[in-house]
Amino acid sequence: NQGSKTKTLSEMLLPPLAAERIPQLPPLPTHPLQLDKSAIRFGIKIGEGNYGEVHRGLMTDDQGQTKTVAIKTLKAVGQVDDFKREVDIMKKLKHRNIVKLCGLVESEGEDMYMVMEYLPMGSLKDYIKTNKEHMKDSSLLKFAMDIAEGMDYLEQRRVIHRDLAARNILVADQHNVKITDFGLAQQPNRGNYYFRQTQRALPLPWYAPECIEKGKFSHKSDVWSYGVTCWEMFTRGLEPDLPQKPETLLQLLKNGKRLNLKPPCPPNIYLMLIRPCWDEEPSGRPNFSEVITIVREQQD
Ligand code: ADP
Ligand code: MG
Repeated sequence: NQGSKTKTLSEMLLPPLAAERIPQLPPLPTHPLQLDKSAIRFGIKIGEGNYGEVHRGLMTDDQGQTKTVAIKTLKAVGQVDDFKREVDIMKKLKHRNIVKLCGLVESEGEDMYMVMEYLPMGSLKDYIKTNKEHMKDSSLLKFAMDIAEGMDYLEQRRVIHRDLAARNILVADQHNVKITDFGLAQQPNRGNYYFRQTQRALPLPWYAPECIEKGKFSHKSDVWSYGVTCWEMFTRGLEPDLPQKPETLLQLLKNGKRLNLKPPCPPNIYLMLIRPCWDEEPSGRPNFSEVITIVREQQD
């Protein structure tokens, strides 16, 4: 941080101590998150999504300390605005259940990278499928609580996630998880709704009827997706078996059909936690602070 303070006259006149004899200080970043490309090293690929890839990597900070990070790259040139929105939203978030953005590499007309804290245990989806024999309901309830707390924070910050699913939850350790992938997230300018602007591949089985029908997204549609995420968790990683075609899916939901209770999901959790998230009317669903209360009741 030496570059940030102006040196006094005596400091300038005194010969520098051995440790201070650094040839040249690196230029100050224009934004605290801004990183030079030379500060990161790419490692193996750990994930691939719609717009780019996620790699494990190393980041060297301005103190010379190196740490393992996850680096998300932008593949398609036409997605720059989406990538910037994802970064802008993540920048503002600070919560123990939300993956932290540590840096940003941005070069004019070139590649862009997001550098995030690395969670070595990977996605909740993979973790549950791998460990399904030993996963206790009590552990899953703690994960459900972490996700609800992160989502409650997002609701307070007026961020609609729009892609809440077990594949977008990362496992920090045996007891803690964090929300990631803000690639579809929106922060509506006014009101609590966001209307879909563009038609692109959307995770329909996680979506509430008003999202499919009107492209209308809200904290209450995130609550619906939270219900599907809990269904994935407590069934130990089953795929939501719903029709792919939007019209067919919508008709089915409007007829009151829902993902069924499937073992080993406990009936109580299905009835008290999951099903209330799937009320056809957004106003009939709990908000995230109410979800926290429901999870707590299930933990007792
Ligand atoms: P996409 O927008 O491509 O879906 P995600 O942010 O969801 O990108 O990341 C894709 C996958 O990469 C995740 O499901 C997870 O397996 C892995 N991954 C992403 N971020 C991290 C991270 N910070 N630490 C560990 N693994 C990660
Ligand atoms: Mg994802």
